[in-house]
Amino acid sequence: MTAEWKSGINWTEPRLVDTSNPVPSDAKVLFDGQSMDAWNGVKNWKIENGYAQVGSTVHTKEQFGDVQLHLEFATPEKVEGTGQGRGNSGVYFMDRYEVQILDSYNNTTYFDGQCASIYKQRPPLVNACRKPGEWQTYDIVFHAPRFRADGSLKSPATVTVLQNGVLVQDHTQIQGTSLWDAPPSYSPHEPKGPLSLQYHGNPTRFRNIWVREL
Ligand code: MG
Repeated sequence: MTAEWKSGINWTEPRLVDTSNPVPSDAKVLFDGQSMDAWNGVKNWKIENGYAQVGSTVHTKEQFGDVQLHLEFATPEKVEGTGQGRGNSGVYFMDRYEVQILDSYNNTTYFDGQCASIYKQRPPLVNACRKPGEWQTYDIVFHAPRFRADGSLKSPATVTVLQNGVLVQDHTQIQGTSLWDAPPSYSPHEPKGPLSLQYHGNPTRFRNIWVREL
């Protein structure tokens, strides 16, 4: 007779999370289809029919570090512009690290700037984009970078992204702040920061935004 092997580790019991609703019970709702009250900087946004259409770059009032983020977006149904000018928006973590939102359906641009790229750092593994105007999902796991007391980088930020249920970023190490005109680099910052949605002049829409702190 064999004996059962036990690890001997005294794990604490996993917390219960009720998943009988679309939003998990321990999630914070950032947009429920009605109000953008969770955000600062809301200007010229259009809220109707359960979605919000960008009119300005907005930041959450609350600060976050390591998170699981769910959001749904739709790039404009009416196709206008090319490359980076088509359906451009983005999700920023800690006001610095951008997961790109772009209409990358039959729209070529630099690969590390297409939809689901870590902007100017890493293209997505595949192009999982739906057509302009169609609702798409992002499920993102983001881990904040850690800094030592002297401000040097202890561990980089990492990000995993599922777009429409398909893995597009697989525990990607972020190389630093996402910028258009400079290479990424780290400078020390607080352990928490806001989540942001980028306004890039295109009427991209959002709905069902929630976040779980990890
Ligand atoms: Mg962008």
